[in-house]
Amino acid sequence: MVHLSVVVPCFNEAEVIDAFHTALVAALEPTRETFEICYVDDGSSDQTLRQLRRLAADDPRVRFTSFSRNFGKESAMLAGLRMAGGDAAVLMDADLQHPPELLPRMLDLHRHGYDQVVAQRDRAGEGKLRTALSRTYYRIVRRCMDVEVIDGAGDFRLLSRRAVDSVLSLPESNRFSKGIFSWIGFDTVSFTYRNVERAAGESKWGGRRLLNYGIDGLLSFNSKPLRLAIHTGLCLFLSALAYALWIIGNVAFDGVDTPGYTTLLTAIVALSGIQLATLGVIGEYVGRIYHESKRRPHYVVRETDTAPKDFSPRSALESAVPARPAS
Ligand code: UDP
Ligand code: MG
Repeated sequence: MVHLSVVVPCFNEAEVIDAFHTALVAALEPTRETFEICYVDDGSSDQTLRQLRRLAADDPRVRFTSFSRNFGKESAMLAGLRMAGGDAAVLMDADLQHPPELLPRMLDLHRHGYDQVVAQRDRAGEGKLRTALSRTYYRIVRRCMDVEVIDGAGDFRLLSRRAVDSVLSLPESNRFSKGIFSWIGFDTVSFTYRNVERAAGESKWGGRRLLNYGIDGLLSFNSKPLRLAIHTGLCLFLSALAYALWIIGNVAFDGVDTPGYTTLLTAIVALSGIQLATLGVIGEYVGRIYHESKRRPHYVVRETDTAPKDFSPRSALESAVPARPAS
């Protein structure tokens, strides 16, 4: 059994993958630990897959899996963790934003008995607006969520074997790994490093994708939005009751005739707005239930140099994929 598995999801990373690989091997070799590198090509449309094939052919410590299309980073990380056979696994980005030089330190902390070692980046060199937005997001999330999610603690982390097994034991198809890592628990330690700019290529996280990711995160780990809808409904009902009593009182004691046209319209519009929003929230959850109930595999493998392990019964499809013929 190798000591360390490095899991690297790659999506259109042809420009950096060679530099990354060199840096990674240079950082790992001095540690004298045995290691393997599990690359997952997330349906890249550039030369990434070809480069991975070459890396795997040149170095027996390199393995790879390639998806039939882009399934997203969460699926790619899952596939990588399933490939990983080591005592510990490290999740890393391929764009050199997760400096491989930190690996010895992470291994060291793991040796001290920590099951999760998180390298947390600061926000140096990032746009002011983006920093402010993510700060606000994390503040909201911290108040709403049942699991703790830390600002800047991304996916650069080391997981012990039992932590990896626990992550793999969660079957949900809507995977929000920040929440999952926090949910599984175990002894966790984190340290901060200076944020690095992407070495080459471009980020795949535009504004809209980030926003959707944020909403996913909020919804996949709690049902508080539903609770909020109930609270809003109750407040509205009580204020309507008070208002009605006030009008009845007015008419009874002073005999005032209240023309209620504006009030009526406002009330109707406000109420329909709230109802629509609430329906939307419920719809989101129902959609998620629908999605989960289909029990689809998380990804489809196009090609791999590793015999797929059996994750029955869910992944019959994944295991049905033949291994890559020797070239
Ligand atoms: N990635 C992936 N699938 C995707 C998007 C991204 O596997 O659909 C990988 C990407 O190749 C990189 C990592 O996830 O290794 C982080 O992506 P990126 O650098 O674009 O995100 P950022 O660092 O801007 O958050
Ligand atoms: Mg990046």
